[in-house]
Amino acid sequence: MPIDPDFMKKRNVTGNHAGHAVWGEVEPPSKLGIHGTQVALDQDVCDGDGICISVCPVSVFDWVDSPGHPLSDRKSDPTNEPACIQCLACEMQCPTKAIKITPP
Ligand code: SF4
Repeated sequence: MPIDPDFMKKRNVTGNHAGHAVWGEVEPPSKLGIHGTQVALDQDVCDGDGICISVCPVSVFDWVDSPGHPLSDRKSDPTNEPACIQCLACEMQCPTKAIKITPP
């Protein structure tokens, strides 16, 4: 299932990770939530493909380990969210539709 485009209405910020918001629910290791807001990446949808890391022209994403998660043992993480220039390359190319870009 892709990231919910209405996640900001349906979820609450339950934490902070590497400088970005985390939208719950979060129950590690199996539930990691949505990381980021303007650059939102649902780590429970991410399969660790990494295409977003490859295509982002301004290096918004980094790898983060996720041992024990049912989909993959590493995830992409929007650690440099403020750098996003809304090119949408990551959103369009993500194979599992885990990313939602919302202009500020
Ligand atoms: S929309 Fe473009 S600049 Fe923003 S995170 Fe995705 S690939 Fe990077």
